[in-house]
Amino acid sequence: MNEEVQRLKTFEHWPHTESSHPGVTPIILAADGFHFCPTPQDPDTVVCFFCDLQLGDWERSDDAKAVHRKLSPNCPMVLGLPCGNVQKVNNASTKLEDDAPAHMRLENVLARKATLLQAVTALETSLEDARRQIVDAIHARKKLQQEAAVLASGMKTRKND
Ligand SMILES: [Zn+2]
Repeated sequence: MNEEVQRLKTFEHWPHTESSHPGVTPIILAADGFHFCPTPQDPDTVVCFFCDLQLGDWERSDDAKAVHRKLSPNCPMVLGLPCGNVQKVNNASTKLEDDAPAHMRLENVLARKATLLQAVTALETSLEDARRQIVDAIHARKKLQQEAAVLASGMKTRKND
């Protein structure tokens, strides 16, 4: 039930209509992680695939996303965090009534970006150090070669004496 498309399919016999219950439509519920689990006693019960929150007895003014957030504030579906949820492609019909999860996602992305940037800066610094060491080593080798050449020519000169 981690796929929104599969969750949406469970709502085939959803007892409410969009006009009577605009905050608990199959599209809203499936997008928020819920699938339909009706029982004879609870004909409109839905369950979040991640946090197992069960909700039902919907009233006309109920807002599924708000109730999910209130009763299960740490659910990654509420927070908009990665949790194996596969979103429906082309979600244009899902209204973004609340931009809080998107906002949190953005903060999450920015935090990761800052961490990566720090890592890149640290790498650049050590690369610069390594470059300097290589340059020093090349200079040292040249110097040694020159000294060796001087010594060799000195020995040759002495031999020829
Ligand atoms: Zn949940």
